[in-house]
Amino acid sequence: MNAPLPPIEDLVACPHCDALHHLPSLGENERAFCARCGSLMVAPRARSFLQVLSLAFSAMILMAAAVFFPFLSISSHGFGHASSVFEVAMAFSDSWYAPLSLAVLMVIVALPALRFAGLIYTLWPLANGRPPWRHAAFVFRMVEESQPWSMAEIFVIGTAVALVKIGGLASISFGPAFWAFCCLIIVNVLKNAYMSKSAIWEAIGKG
Ligand SMILES: [Zn+2]
Repeated sequence: MNAPLPPIEDLVACPHCDALHHLPSLGENERAFCARCGSLMVAPRARSFLQVLSLAFSAMILMAAAVFFPFLSISSHGFGHASSVFEVAMAFSDSWYAPLSLAVLMVIVALPALRFAGLIYTLWPLANGRPPWRHAAFVFRMVEESQPWSMAEIFVIGTAVALVKIGGLASISFGPAFWAFCCLIIVNVLKNAYMSKSAIWEAIGKG
C-alpha cells in the first residue's frame, strides 16, 4: 500500500520552509525547486558559484565606497558640511560614545565585509573547479551564523527615517555613499537568491 520511503540520509530540507525532499541526482544544467514554497534548492554548481562570487566582489567594492565617500551633506543658513560614515564614527572616538561608534562600525561595516570575504574564500576554489581551501567549512559556517548581526540594511532604513525627521530644519542631500549602501542591499538580495547553501555544503563537505 505504501511506497517504500527513501533512506532518511537522502532527504534534503528546503532552506526556507523545511519541507523534506528526496532529490534525484541532477544533470549539469538542471535546477531543483522546493515543491511547497518554490525556493531554489539546487542550482547548476560551478556557474552559480561564479555568480555568487562575482556578487560578493561587487559588494566588497560597494562597501568601500559606502564607508569612505560622503554619506550625506547638510546645509542650513549658508553653512554646509559633508561627512562619510567613517568620519562620523571617528568623530565620536574620543568621547564616551566611543564604544557605541565602535559597535556601529562593527555591525554595519566590519561584519558585512568579513562575511563577503568569507564567502569569497569559500567559493573562489569551487568556482574554479578546484577542491575547497582549508577550513572552508568553518569559514562558511561563520558566514551563515553571523547573518543576524549584519545590519547594513537596518542602518540605511534608520538613516532615511532620521533624515525625514530633520528634513524641515536643514537641507539635506545624499552623497554617493548612500547610493552605494542602497546598491549593496540589492546585491545582497541577489546573492541570497542565487546562492544554494546545500550545494555549497555539499561541495565543501559537512565539515
Ligand atoms: Zn520550501
